[in-house]
Amino acid sequence: MTGKPASGTTDLAVIGGGLHGCSLALQAALKGLSVVVLEKDSIARHASGVNAGGVRRLGRHPAEIPLSLASMRMWHEIEELVHDDCGFQVSGQVKVAETEGEMGNLRLRAEQLRSQGYEHEVLLDGEELYRLLPALKRGCPGGLACLDDGFAEPYRTTQAFRRRAEALGVRFLEKTRVLSLEARCSGCRLSTSSGELEAGVVANCAGAWAARICEQLGEPVPLEPIAPMMTVTQRLPFFVKPVVGTTGRLLSFKQMPNGTVLIGGGHRGRAEPQHNGTALDFRRLIRNVQIAADLFPSVRGARIIRCWAGIEARMPDDIPVISRSSTASNVLHAFGFSAHGFQLGPVVGRLMSELIVSGESSLSLKPFSITRFQRDRPAATS
Ligand SMILES: Cc1cc2nc3c(=O)[nH]c(=O)nc-3n(C[C@H](O)[C@H](O)[C@H](O)COP(=O)(O)OP(=O)(O)OC[C@H]3O[C@@H](n4cnc5c(N)ncnc54)[C@H](O)[C@@H]3O)c2cc1C
Repeated sequence: MTGKPASGTTDLAVIGGGLHGCSLALQAALKGLSVVVLEKDSIARHASGVNAGGVRRLGRHPAEIPLSLASMRMWHEIEELVHDDCGFQVSGQVKVAETEGEMGNLRLRAEQLRSQGYEHEVLLDGEELYRLLPALKRGCPGGLACLDDGFAEPYRTTQAFRRRAEALGVRFLEKTRVLSLEARCSGCRLSTSSGELEAGVVANCAGAWAARICEQLGEPVPLEPIAPMMTVTQRLPFFVKPVVGTTGRLLSFKQMPNGTVLIGGGHRGRAEPQHNGTALDFRRLIRNVQIAADLFPSVRGARIIRCWAGIEARMPDDIPVISRSSTASNVLHAFGFSAHGFQLGPVVGRLMSELIVSGESSLSLKPFSITRFQRDRPAATS
């Protein structure tokens, strides 16, 4: 729905039509709330529509593991939730150690996780590694893997959540920018580029622009807009099934069902949230492709078809803010996914909707509180 005026009242107004906004909208609608999603551009226009589609538990920050495990269970049943399989495929994800030193670090990680009761990451010795990745350059001592991880199609996924939410009555207002937010005890007033709206609860799912909403609420956050870059090659004969990452260098690498190879993993361009976009850094992009070609000789000489960058919110500790506002109890935040929020999309919407409806979430969100950046600030007043 584009160009419709924002007006009237709603139980929940969601700022941002990325995966997190759409997932929350769907889950809130399933719980019987009336929901409006306000999106300044179009649904899935930013990080949620252009990311690498990695659905990964492997290598998660310890604080994120419970959420990531729960989200993975939802991914395995995604068609039931959104009536679309989202292109989700179980391919496995493997982190390669290129040296004995890196292998030592992976062993340490595996031991730490096991001591905390987690068994989803498994160590691979050299033989197991080459069984999974026969095309990998020779001489790597092993790796770490999550064999039930995989990937999905990001734009399709976000649109699937939107469609399902829409079928349950959620209103999506595109080309509608939230200009200001006034939170009161009785609810919130949103002023938008296409009118005024009253909402019982507001969710800030505004991605790289989320800090502006926080500022209006008097709770500034150290959000850094970043621009991870991606490259896609021509179609190549099949040579790799799992998604591959490295331990000592920045790389994430997968071959798509159509044979093209998607190369990313953290090399960044320049984020320009003020201009609503990004600029590529070709020197870094070439470095990224060189690492891929070094690891997989099959990629050498492949033509590059397309490069792009997406704009994403990064927090200093690389974990998101998923939290009630510290200054307004009827505002919630979910942003700062630090380039790995696609996999978390399904569960974050569910947990946020639980917070809204019952005041509690079924998994602890304590590590993700906005107050971790505001140790000296007062608690919520309204
Ligand atoms: C290149 C790249 C590769 C990535 N690869 C992976 C991966 O493989 N696996 C993984 O798990 N994660 C990955 N990520 C991260 C993942 O894409 C993000 O963490 C996730 O999509 C964030 O979703 P979001 O809904 O928070 O943000 P977004 O998708 O950015 O959505 C936020 C929306 O809010 C809107 N908005 C902002 N301000 C306003 C306002 N004032 N009024 C109205 N609307 C507003 C924006 O227009 C935007 O559409 C990658 C990211 C990038 C950029």
